[in-house]
Order: sequence, then C-alpha cells, then structure tokens
Amino acid sequence: MDNQIHKERERKMNQDSALTEKMWAFSKCRGADLFGVADLVPAEKFVLSQGPSWFSGFPRAISIGMRLNDPIVDHHSPLERRRDSQYWHHVYDVVTPSLDFLAYDVSRQLNSLGFQAFPVPGSMPYPLEKLEGMLSHKLAAHLAGLGWVGKSCLLITPQFGPRVRFVSILTDAPLVTGAPLDNPCGKCRICVDACPVGAFTGRDFDPAEGVEARFDTRKCSEYRREHPCGICVAVCPRGKSGRVAMPDPTEAGKQESNTA
Ligand code: SF4
Ligand code: SF4
Repeated sequence: MDNQIHKERERKMNQDSALTEKMWAFSKCRGADLFGVADLVPAEKFVLSQGPSWFSGFPRAISIGMRLNDPIVDHHSPLERRRDSQYWHHVYDVVTPSLDFLAYDVSRQLNSLGFQAFPVPGSMPYPLEKLEGMLSHKLAAHLAGLGWVGKSCLLITPQFGPRVRFVSILTDAPLVTGAPLDNPCGKCRICVDACPVGAFTGRDFDPAEGVEARFDTRKCSEYRREHPCGICVAVCPRGKSGRVAMPDPTEAGKQESNTA
C-alpha cells in the first residue's frame, strides 16, 4: 500500500504544468472549448475491457470538448426525419470530424515533442458490431474533471451542461491530471421524464454499477434510427439558454402517424 502511495506521489510530482499549458493553448486556438487530462491508471481494467491491449502503454488521456451551438440544440426537433435533421448533420458531420482533426493535430504535436500519442476516433464502434467506441470519451472527460455523469448518462459540464462533444487522445506525456467532479443532479429528473422511450431509470451514476442499471442503450439507439433525437441534451437545465421551448416529444408519434 505504501509503495502504491509512493508511486502515486511520484507520478504527480513528475507532471509538467508548462507542457500542459502549452497543449491547452494549442488546442484552444484550433477550436477546443474544454481541455483536461485524465489519469487512466486507476481505470486501466475498464479501459482494457473496451479497447485493445496496447492501450496499457498510455497512462493518461487528454480530453477535449467542443461546445454545440445553442440554436442547433434548441431548434432541433424529434419531428424531423433523420436525413433532414440539421442537428444530426451538425453533430455527426461537422463537430465530430472537427474533433477528430483536432485530436490528430494534438497527437502530432505531442509526437514532435517526443511523446507517444494516439487520437481515439470521436465516434467509431470497436469492434464494428458493438455500440461502444475504443475508449469512453465520457470516462476520460469525467476523470479529467471536466464534468459529471448525469442521470441522462451524458457528461454534464459546469460551463455548457451536456451541450458538448468530446474526443480523447491517449498519451504517455507527463501532463497535469484533473480529478472527477461531484454530481449535483440532486432531485432533478427532467431528462428522465423527457426521454420519449423511457430509456433512463433515473438512478444516479455509480461507477460500481454497469450502465444497464441507468440506461437502456438499445431503446435509445432503435429510436434514433428514425428520429434525430437529442432531447436529453436539449432539456437539461445545465447549460440551457432558456430562450426556446422544446417541442413536446410525445407529439412525435402522432405527427408521424398523421403523415404516414
Ligand atoms: S437521445 Fe432521445 S431516445 Fe436517446 S436517451 Fe436521449 S432522449 Fe432518450
Ligand atoms: S436534466 Fe437534471 S437530472 Fe438530467 S442530467 Fe441534467 S441536471 Fe441531471
């Protein structure tokens, strides 16, 4: 145990704040709104359960967030067809690739400084038939101290609520790591009650429980095959401008059957 505490202390002492500042500045001028670094050592088992074994060579992950534009979130509607959805287009055709390019640039910069770095794709299942990626960007952002996991299972940030997309860069660079934030969701259940398919159970995040205790992933992904849904992002009071009312999600089915 003493040995473990000693190793932990040594790791913290070796962290390089000038390099961390430099990488934050580099990311910011390429469009990042949030930047943090996660210590992956305590989560290694989970990380290796998702990604390939060579991920064990990376003790840290940089987490970078890009804010979603308010009107894009506020004016999205579950009444739209997915192929007509400006929300879907912006999130998956614009913001996610922008984050991938940004992560690639950050990795190259770290490589040029003599460190290993791997940009984890922003949205790519691994293996292909699974719904999960190689690394949970949410886990990296949470461990980096950029936000907490809300009842919606989204990463909720103090600055922008869930209106943020994340990407991660695995690295061995000695960057200064953050610490997870407390979860202030409290009695709020807005996202739980707003989900049109009841995908959330309303339980608070508990790292000891599997995601199925809080979220039915299949219900959500089946619904999203037809509907460009981001209601749980739009309704969260954290980061919400409050200027625009969301359409009633229960009207989505009625409208569809009227127009079928
Ligand atoms: S995206 Fe829509 S269907 Fe999926 S969990 Fe959020 S509110 Fe529910
Ligand atoms: S809507 Fe409420 S319960 Fe859901 S994530 Fe946001 S603050 Fe938490």
